[in-house]
Amino acid sequence: MLFNSIVYGPIHSRRLGISLGINVMPTLQKLCSFNCIYCECGLNEPWQERPQLPTADEVSKALDSVRAENIDVITFSGNGEPTMHPDFEAIIQIVRDWRNVRYPNAQICVLSNATQLGRKDVVRGLMMADKRILKLDSAIDETMHAIDQPERKSLTVDEIMNGLRQFDGNFTLQTCFLRGTVEGRCVDNTTEAEISAWIEAVKTLHPAEVMIYVIDRKTPYDTLEKIGRDEMERIADHVRKLNIPIIVSA
Ligand code: SF4
Repeated sequence: MLFNSIVYGPIHSRRLGISLGINVMPTLQKLCSFNCIYCECGLNEPWQERPQLPTADEVSKALDSVRAENIDVITFSGNGEPTMHPDFEAIIQIVRDWRNVRYPNAQICVLSNATQLGRKDVVRGLMMADKRILKLDSAIDETMHAIDQPERKSLTVDEIMNGLRQFDGNFTLQTCFLRGTVEGRCVDNTTEAEISAWIEAVKTLHPAEVMIYVIDRKTPYDTLEKIGRDEMERIADHVRKLNIPIIVSA
C-alpha cells in the first residue's frame, strides 16, 4: 500500500485515533533504511533514478488544502522513513506552525525506525514533535536483522539503543511482535530469550511509554503469524511490572 500524496486522510488509526497523515517520502515508491518483513508498503525496490522528495514549500502548500473538521493527531508516516528527508527538521517546524493555527489540540507524532539518530537535525526535529514513536523490534542483532532487514548490514542493536538514549526516556518505544518463516528461515521475536532481552532493553531505555502491536494488514510474506491478544497481554505484563505505561494493539 503506497500513499500518492503528501497529506492523506484523516484516517482512523488503530493506535492513534483520527490521524492526518504526512508523507514526506516519494509518492510512487517506498524509501526506507529498513526493509521490514511486515511492511505494509511492501518490500524495497531498487531505485531507477534519484528519489523525488517533496520540498518544504510543497508540504506547506499541501497543508493549506486540508479541510478536515476534527483531527486528534498529525502523523509523520507514509511511504517509508520520514527522518530520511534531508529537511525533516524544517518540515516539522512548518507542520507545527500550521497545527498551532489550524488544529491547536492535535498532537504531532512521528513514526520512525530510529536509524537516523546519528543526525543532530533529526534528533532536534523529533524533539519538536509531541510524540516520537521509535522502533525496536528485537534486542538481539540477528533477529533485528531478520525482521527489519536494514539496508546497512553493519547496523547493531547497540547503535539503535545509543540513538534512543539521546531522548532520556522522552519517547514511545514501538515493537511489532510476530513469528513465521521467511524464505525458509524461522523468524520469531516472541521466544523466551527474545522477550527477556527486549525487557532488559526496555528497562535500560525506560521510555515514557511502550506500544506493542501485531501485524494487521497484508504483509509482503503470507507466512507470518499474527500473535494473539492473550500472548500480547503476557508480554505487556512484563512492562507493567516496570511501571511503564503500555498500549497493546492486538
Ligand atoms: S521501518 Fe516502517 S516503512 Fe520502513 S520498512 Fe519498516 S515498516 Fe516499512
